[in-house]
Amino acid sequence: MTKSERLFQEAVQVIPGGVNSPVRAFGSIDSTPRFIKSAEGACLYDEDGNCYIDFIGSWGPMILGHSHKAVVERVTQACQQGLSFGAATAAEVEMAKLVCSMVPSIEMVRMVNSGTEAVMSAIRVARGFTRREKIIKFTGCYHGHFDALLVQAGSGVMTAGVPGSLGVPAGCTKDTLLAEYNDLESVQRHFARCAEEIAAVIVEPVAANMGVVPPASGFLEGLRQLCDNNGALLIFDEVITGFRLGPAGAQGYYDIVPDLTTFGKIIGGGMPVGAYGGRRDIMELVAPLGGVYQAGTLSGNPIAMAAGIAQLTILKEHPEYYQQLNERGDWFYGQIEQFVKAAGLSCTVNHVGSLGCLYFTDQEVVDYESAKTSDTKAFADYCNYMIEHGIYLAPAQFEAMFLSLAHTDEMLENVLKCIKQYFNL
Ligand SMILES: *Cc1c(COP(=O)(O)O)cnc(C)c1O
Repeated sequence: MTKSERLFQEAVQVIPGGVNSPVRAFGSIDSTPRFIKSAEGACLYDEDGNCYIDFIGSWGPMILGHSHKAVVERVTQACQQGLSFGAATAAEVEMAKLVCSMVPSIEMVRMVNSGTEAVMSAIRVARGFTRREKIIKFTGCYHGHFDALLVQAGSGVMTAGVPGSLGVPAGCTKDTLLAEYNDLESVQRHFARCAEEIAAVIVEPVAANMGVVPPASGFLEGLRQLCDNNGALLIFDEVITGFRLGPAGAQGYYDIVPDLTTFGKIIGGGMPVGAYGGRRDIMELVAPLGGVYQAGTLSGNPIAMAAGIAQLTILKEHPEYYQQLNERGDWFYGQIEQFVKAAGLSCTVNHVGSLGCLYFTDQEVVDYESAKTSDTKAFADYCNYMIEHGIYLAPAQFEAMFLSLAHTDEMLENVLKCIKQYFNL
């Protein structure tokens, strides 16, 4: 038995499913989790001493690669000054200014501790601002485990093959309206029925929790228009795309201005950080300035801010990194697409910049329904092969692959070779 297997046996006794987040479970690929001991650059090392090229990157945060020197140094320094004060710090001002300077639509921003919290708070602000209660979300989009949005969600919920979660009272989702990704008519229908009740439309500008589904041309523009025409707010959930597709995330990449934006993952540089922000007149409604209450004992924690500031500063100072990363993504996923097509495999490759997904379906994947045509058993077989060959993929079909700046051309060539081997090409 490997050390990971032994740890997993112990873990399941004391942690539900042996993991602290369902997406870390290997159940959907009929395997058991590798327990990770350390990481550097694009590599993960497990408790058994195996080394992997990592395509999860902590589900996005590690855009500079693991254990980046500047980030670790700044965190170490911050630790020596105290772990938490529960009082205002200079680091919070620096962080807020950084975010505002990188994302033009953000005039004011509030730090929280996770993407879930960011979304939950942004929804409350949108409802407070519009004095309306209904929210439109898209099937297959994931916005964290907040009650009101845990309906036909992507990510682990989709992998589990369930429509929602036990324990979510019907009252919490009665104001959640579902629409189909890349289908403006499905949004229009809700507005036609109850425009005066709709507070906001929340969307992942690139859907990255049902694999990777790019927005169809005109989709995000159409949402902006529909919101404007009906007095609703447009919320971009950029927990994955923020600071990844470019310094201004997907909104910069596609040139659309949302009213509110949520961040998580990359913004914390590996520490638990989320944030929400947007138009000043909306954000001025947040307590203690306004009547929308939202608080957090550890929000803006100095260690977390240190990691986030260090990572965002590097990204801000090196806009060329984004060009490099996006080009590498275009090349890498393009290569996979090429040999999938040449060999006539029943696979589809979607990608936007450094985010990509190899779906085991021959259908074009544009939304939740088409993503679900994937053969998850075929994916499981492929995924296990890759992990056994030192390539650490998310253990589920409906998750993205995350490239980082630490993935070298040589590593990616080796990964391509391994994929070809698997398919006998
Ligand atoms: C991961 C994710 C969340 C939730 O963030 P947590 O930090 O896991 O709570 C919300 N929205 C999107 C788009 C995500 O990918």
